[in-house]
Amino acid sequence: MSITPQPGIMDIALYVGGQSRLEGHADPLKLSSNENPYGPSPRAMAALERSAAMLHRYPSTDHAELRAAIAEIHGLDAERIVCGVGSDEVLQFLAQCYAGPGDEVIHTEHGFAMYPILARAAGATPVEVRERDRVVDVDAILAACTDRTRLIYLTNPGNPTGTMIPLSEVERLAGAIPDHVILVLDGAYVEFTEGYDGGASLVESRENVVMTRTFSKIHGLGGLRIGWGYGPRAIIDVLNRVRQPFNLSNSQLAAAEAAIRDTGFTAHCQSENARLRVWLRDEILALGIGCDESHANYVLARFADEAEAMACDAALREAGILVRRVGGYGFPEALRITVGDEAGCARVIEAISRFKAAA
Ligand code: PMP
Repeated sequence: MSITPQPGIMDIALYVGGQSRLEGHADPLKLSSNENPYGPSPRAMAALERSAAMLHRYPSTDHAELRAAIAEIHGLDAERIVCGVGSDEVLQFLAQCYAGPGDEVIHTEHGFAMYPILARAAGATPVEVRERDRVVDVDAILAACTDRTRLIYLTNPGNPTGTMIPLSEVERLAGAIPDHVILVLDGAYVEFTEGYDGGASLVESRENVVMTRTFSKIHGLGGLRIGWGYGPRAIIDVLNRVRQPFNLSNSQLAAAEAAIRDTGFTAHCQSENARLRVWLRDEILALGIGCDESHANYVLARFADEAEAMACDAALREAGILVRRVGGYGFPEALRITVGDEAGCARVIEAISRFKAAA
């Protein structure tokens, strides 16, 4: 007897996350998962500790306090926010509710690896659209839309590229897609950009645009798993129907609320990241390695070829530093390096310089 899963499930390639262990190094410098080098806000840590007193209580099912805090800080309507176990879960709700067998889900060439996984898990067909010089190509996305397209997942700024398209281009895309298609603006790294609201203003004016955001990056809470989505009321109502009532714990809710309210800490992380990513890119370029301007908390270092990228990765590991190989994202010749704190940035540049000098 053989028990077979649903069609498409066995076509799913397992997601491989950024490594955190490095043999021979008890405490490696981890620059492989775009985490916040300053950790979470001390206020979030304190709220987390206080939440232990509530372990015997079920958490809120409607996340009203966290949604109110998000709405207040970002100037949004709390009724149109849905919270999930990381933004991954919100992205999953969208595929689960809106895509099925026979439907197509568009994502771009270098987009987040979860998009095709979520499409296939819903029984739908992922459709990959090419980018142009590592930047999302709105016309190519529009050309790929068919009667069967249900969702477009768009990361802006892009991961692992760090490049972004301006709000005007996102608006052009939203204005030109067919009404039956939902445009999902994955804004995992929006807080690191300047002058881009992640598409929140578009959500206000259109019936088929949803924005997703996360507490994992700027708020330093990747280990706790909290994300949220903002969309038209009708879509948020649909997503809430498949959401488990207790998907977020008291601890997740308390820490996230304290984190988002600590705007001083957020601003500090933003300005340090903005300063150090420019420095990191300049140093990489000075070493003769390709690197686009980044609008996120990582840079993509492009070497001469795959062999050089792998050799540099090995040298970094030797030095106790973990960065991300991105061959699975279509960049075998590149390494994605998270912008660390000042000492972390200096250490990774020193190690790459040594590697280059020895070559
Ligand atoms: N979107 C993008 C582009 C990401 O890089 C990530 C994290 N790797 C996510 C979404 C999911 O983040 P989380 O589930 O931690 O919110």
